[in-house]
Amino acid sequence: MTIEFRAAVFRTANTPMTIETVSIPSTPPPGEVLVRMRASGLCHSDLHVIVGEWEVPTPMILGHEGAGVVEAVGEGVSGVAPGDHVILTWTPPCRRCRYCVSGRPVLCDEVARHSANHLSSDGRTRIRTVDGQEVYSFAGTGTFGEYTMVPESGAIPVRADAPFEQASLVGCSVTTGVGAAINTANVRPDETVLVLGCGGVGLNAIQGARLVGARRIIAADLSDTRLERARHFGATEVVNTSEEDLAERVPQLTDGRGVEVAIEAIGLPATIEAAYASLARGGRAVVAGQVPDGLTITIDPFVMSDSELQLIGSNYGSSRPAIDFPQLIDHYLHGRIDLDALVTRVMGLDEINDGYDELKRGIGIRSVIKY
Ligand SMILES: [Zn+2]
Ligand SMILES: [Zn+2]
Repeated sequence: MTIEFRAAVFRTANTPMTIETVSIPSTPPPGEVLVRMRASGLCHSDLHVIVGEWEVPTPMILGHEGAGVVEAVGEGVSGVAPGDHVILTWTPPCRRCRYCVSGRPVLCDEVARHSANHLSSDGRTRIRTVDGQEVYSFAGTGTFGEYTMVPESGAIPVRADAPFEQASLVGCSVTTGVGAAINTANVRPDETVLVLGCGGVGLNAIQGARLVGARRIIAADLSDTRLERARHFGATEVVNTSEEDLAERVPQLTDGRGVEVAIEAIGLPATIEAAYASLARGGRAVVAGQVPDGLTITIDPFVMSDSELQLIGSNYGSSRPAIDFPQLIDHYLHGRIDLDALVTRVMGLDEINDGYDELKRGIGIRSVIKY
């Protein structure tokens, strides 16, 4: 038995996705979960595929930032049940490899083999076009359709009183940004934090730093509109880098010391170097932005050892989704982080191409598809 449903199908870069009817088994295989999607954010990573910067197998259902309701579970699934509200993670942990066992599921060996290659855990796909062609699911999640099938560990149950539109964002940008501050950088209340780039990830890094009580939070961006938003999410000072030189402003703002933590949320060599250059002695720079393939940065290794500087990569906010997703939903519902202001447009699946055009042009913070 299969379920037919509507999905946005990607076939060729720089060509609009088409809304098509596709099918999925109504009974999940052992260990998997059929999820009826209720909301999905339009994240920047999918845009890399849409504009042809990242090559993927096609046809593919994009989307990896979603929330929904469990429709059915396969044999052996005990962690979730039909009716549960879930947020999907694009790093469904195997729970057995050395990374999973040591609490770093983002680095899971199985994720690197399967969902990172847009496949299910058996190396196959679950969705078919009307003429029987295999359809890949981006990052093993494929949230731009009304249904998806994920491993049990990829569907994280959360409390049912969180609205799906806001909850969906926890599946990627919120966890990536807040996690970069609270997990990767482990910001403490006596520290000053600089965040470079105030898009979806940067704004969440700012509210992550605020959540753990950072003493001061300096936001840097080229746009006054984005810097206004940064203030809303917790920045105590802002620097418009189209008008001011960050290398001058950071020492002025910190009595010549620099910052204890700098979080780069853009993904450019120059801003990673600027983050590193802004550190106080003993400081740590976190790279949360995704840099295009093949680029390199230059740092001075003498200063690095002499000043005990750290340069740290952050993937998915160094998160443990099973712990972090319910935690972030609690923080949101108790008013300690703001997910409402992140949602600047709610749209139907049919408007998805328009939504990505807006994202390309830098309009709004997050558009969310409501199913
Ligand atoms: Zn693992
Ligand atoms: Zn994302």
